[in-house]
This record gives sequence, C-alpha cells and structure tokens, in this order.
Amino acid sequence: MIEMHHVTKIYSNGVKALDNINIEIKKSEFVFLVGPTGAGKTTFLRMILREDSPNEGQVIIDGRNIEKLHASKIPYLRRNIGVVFQDFKLLKTSSVFDNVAFALRVMGFSGSIIKKQVLRALDLVGLAHKKNMFPLELSGGEQQRVCIARSLVNNPAILLTDEPTGNLDPDISWEIMKVLMEINNHGTTVLVATHDKNIVNRLRKRVIALVDGRITKDENRGTYDYGEH
Ligand code: ADP
Repeated sequence: MIEMHHVTKIYSNGVKALDNINIEIKKSEFVFLVGPTGAGKTTFLRMILREDSPNEGQVIIDGRNIEKLHASKIPYLRRNIGVVFQDFKLLKTSSVFDNVAFALRVMGFSGSIIKKQVLRALDLVGLAHKKNMFPLELSGGEQQRVCIARSLVNNPAILLTDEPTGNLDPDISWEIMKVLMEINNHGTTVLVATHDKNIVNRLRKRVIALVDGRITKDENRGTYDYGEH
C-alpha cells in the first residue's frame, strides 16, 4: 500500500531530512512513527502526500509511483489519504457537522451524500450526537475527534496523523488512540507520528524509528525507543 525505495530528501538549505529510506507498509496496518524532534517524521508523511518530492528514490502508493502522477491527479491521491496534523484548526463559527462536511461541499457532492458521509464519520469517532454543537463548546479531546472525523469523510484508505495526542492529557490521549484503532479495525491503514511513549509501549504495534533521517528500528509489537544508531 505504501512503499518507499531509497528515498532521500535534502531541503534547499542542505538539511538531509530523509536518508535512503526503504519501507513497506501493508494495507490495514497500524504503524507508529517515532524519533526525536527533527528526525524526519513530518517529512516522511509529507512524501506520502506528495506535498514535497524526494531528491532520490521512489514513493509508491497502491502500486503507483506518485512522482509520476500528473499534477491534475494529485488531488485524487490526497482524497484517498486522511490527514490529522497538529496545526489544522476547526472553523470556530461552523458547527461540528459543517466542519466535517466542508471538503465534500467543496467537491460538489449532493446534500444527501454529504449527510450520509458526515454522519458515518462522526459516528466512527463517537460524536454524531454533537453534530450541531460548535467547536468551542467541545473539550480538547472532542475537538481532536472532530478533526479525525473531518479527515475520514472521504473514506480514505490511509490515515496519517502527526502528534494527534500532542496537547492532550493522558486520559484523553488514550480516548483518541482508541478511536484511531477503531478506524484501523475498519480496514484503514493508520500511521501515527508520536512522542507519546506510554501509548506506544502500551499498544505494542509496529514501530518505525527515525533518527537523523534514517530508520534505526522497524519492529512489530515494538516499544518506544529509537533502536541502535
Ligand atoms: P520531525 O517531524 O521528526 O520533527 P521534520 O521532518 O519536521 O522532523 O524535520 C527534519 C529535518 O528537516 C529537521 O532538521 C528540520 O529542521 C528540517 N526541515 C523540515 N522542513 C524543512 C523545510 N521546509 N526547509 C528546510 N529544512 C526543513
């Protein structure tokens, strides 16, 4: 589903953010991406979204080298990938329903399809009953669940999350992880970049560790450490 072959990314300032990355992530896997700040985790996720291109190597999604995609096809790639990044904010003056519906409206879907898809996404994160509330009426954990619902509204095959529990206390973080696991149980491939040691150690999922742009560990049922380097 997601493959990287000899992927190297050097930013224009000379920083080598990814250094010869080789990885295969299968459909329906749940993967933690760990590593110190600056290790290359966000760059790794951005390569999958084709927000940026590697200097060397290939990123293959569903058998296709995404570097070769025509610019007009990139939006289709991105529709199949849900994203929850820390800096994605909710629209404060829009209801939960409207926040989740936003992308589908932009794409011009009919009202009945939008309603069905939004309620399905809100149901997955356990917030269908709060669809008419506004973001500031919700707790931090609930707001993050709305962001997750928003990322799922297109029914993507892949969900990428960057520090999804970053600013949340441990109980709420756990609640968010349960939502992500539930989504994974429905068949979505889930990739979580995180610093949350407790959660990684408790869940014992596949752990890929990056240090200085290199993979230092790739372990099934892994723990939060960066491995040998
Ligand atoms: P992480 O998500 O693990 O903190 P990043 O992928 O954000 O790591 O960053 C990896 C390295 O690349 C860091 O040294 C960072 O400073 C550098 N970097 C990230 N984005 C850019 C950019 N747009 N231009 C130049 N350097 C960048």
